[in-house]
Amino acid sequence: MPTLADYQHVARGKVRDLYDVDDELLLFVASDRISAYDHILSSEIPDKGRVLTAMSVFWFERLSPNHLVAFDDPRIPAEVRGRALLVRKLQMVDVECVARGYLTGSGMADYTATGAVCGIELPAGLVEASELDPPIFTPASKAEIGAHDENVSFEVIAEKHGVELASKLRDRTIELYSEARAYALTRGLILADTKFEFGLDASGELILADEVFTPDSSRYWPAEGYEPGRVQPSFDKQFVRDWLTSDASGWDRKSDVPPPPLPADVIEATRARYVEAYERLTGRSFADWLA
Ligand code: ATP
Ligand code: MG
Repeated sequence: MPTLADYQHVARGKVRDLYDVDDELLLFVASDRISAYDHILSSEIPDKGRVLTAMSVFWFERLSPNHLVAFDDPRIPAEVRGRALLVRKLQMVDVECVARGYLTGSGMADYTATGAVCGIELPAGLVEASELDPPIFTPASKAEIGAHDENVSFEVIAEKHGVELASKLRDRTIELYSEARAYALTRGLILADTKFEFGLDASGELILADEVFTPDSSRYWPAEGYEPGRVQPSFDKQFVRDWLTSDASGWDRKSDVPPPPLPADVIEATRARYVEAYERLTGRSFADWLA
């Protein structure tokens, strides 16, 4: 059996580590790291990497073409089993492909400032968490660790990548999001928005890559209690946010100081939320997932 040390470490993102397996394959390892308010926290959420991996696999089994090659395979070291995937090495397209079916976050901020999001004019009178029907494609350029992604118009993407590829990115993004939004609703969850990354294979085919419809790449809201006009509770990170902004944490969000470690009860409640998101969405038991 191989160990992680047998593979060349090629990249480290905010949450994942990538290792070379051979010329065609990467080992794509999700950690238990969690971010909030644009900080990577010093505390980890046990099992988060496994939950994110299990959720991506659930969707990859339904959406093709995608980069997943195997999730249970002798080439995956035992120490990362359940939170690592073997994926096809792709030429990544440098665009954060975002679909929004509800107005919130940077979309809401842009709309408030300009009446549009990524150059798409929206009707007047929309409020926080208003539904957008049809959903809109709001691409962003990828920022370095620590910086914000920047919303850009379709035209900017078309200029950089050609109108043919840009159109494919937009159409695939809206199609995949629409399908998942409808599905999530049948499970009592609103999939407010999501972000994909795509890559090109050697023949130039566009392949869905990275992670898919995880709580890290998507906003899930409980459908019960949904009410436009106010910020909806975050399905996964609410306990973390509530604690960090409470007096108990002693942390000032507006300062440059990194957030303090999370108390054990906040960590445990958040772990339970991630597991609940997986089980609610997939109808599967997390206890059955690889360990
Ligand atoms: P965030 O997801 O928060 O934007 P990040 O992009 O740094 O941060 P991670 O999830 O930590 O993300 O790292 C995953 C990295 O792997 C990303 O840079 C992504 O572009 C890259 N990637 C995903 N799938 C593939 C693939 N099939 N081939 C090559 N690189 C990939
Ligand atoms: Mg990522």
